[in-house]
Amino acid sequence: MDKIHILNLAFDNVNMDEASLRVAKALESKTKLKIATVNAEIAYLCEKDATALATIGAFDMVVCDGVGVLYASKIVGTPLKERVAGIELGERIISDIAASGHKLFLLGAAPGVAEDAAKKLCEKYTSLNICGTHDGYFKDDAHVIEQINNSGADVVFVCLGAPKQENWISANCDKLCASVFIGLGGSLDIYAGNSKRAPAFFCRFGLEWLYRLICQPWRIKRMMALPKYILRVIFRGKNINR
Ligand code: UDP
Repeated sequence: MDKIHILNLAFDNVNMDEASLRVAKALESKTKLKIATVNAEIAYLCEKDATALATIGAFDMVVCDGVGVLYASKIVGTPLKERVAGIELGERIISDIAASGHKLFLLGAAPGVAEDAAKKLCEKYTSLNICGTHDGYFKDDAHVIEQINNSGADVVFVCLGAPKQENWISANCDKLCASVFIGLGGSLDIYAGNSKRAPAFFCRFGLEWLYRLICQPWRIKRMMALPKYILRVIFRGKNINR
């Protein structure tokens, strides 16, 4: 099954290799590929907000970014193959395009962070071509679009937090010459070394959300979306995949 419907949103049932293959194909054929990396918080937003659902539902590839969505797919009886975490898909794309020679533009985060991320990534992937960066606190879309187009980027990492990044991609991707657009939330902060991924223990037991809550307790309100999403899936998520 290519698509797994959980409540109103359809997820692409892909593993990491399949997701990266779709990126490679889009780059080769120079066709547009908009990728959303959706966790329970965003999936729940799509239940509450028809505009968010319409925007994210129209992306070419919607991957399961969190264990909440993975559990939800099991609850509805059609398990997704695996979690494809945005941060990991981002790094996979980086590693692939470092080999293929495609160019990457980093958009988002506080001033200076995208530059730091670019520096760290180029130290790790020496053949990586990062053709430009811009922070995520801008008012003038046209100026950013011009900068991205002048850079010759093939791939744009849009890291403005969800759903702002998905709205931005949706509104602007037709004006941009790049092929691949992916919303990657706080990934630039992690690539730059400003914030850390959860230790292996938390990842292994699907507890990254708990680590995030410990590090950023002010996120509690946003994170309540996870149990609400799961409850909604249990009570309303009758399987429409079969
Ligand atoms: N951000 C941005 N512009 C904005 C709002 C947020 O560039 O107008 C950045 C913010 O600096 C951070 C990222 O977007 O780097 C959001 O990170 P968060 O962890 O909240 O995103 P999530 O992964 O939860 O979507």
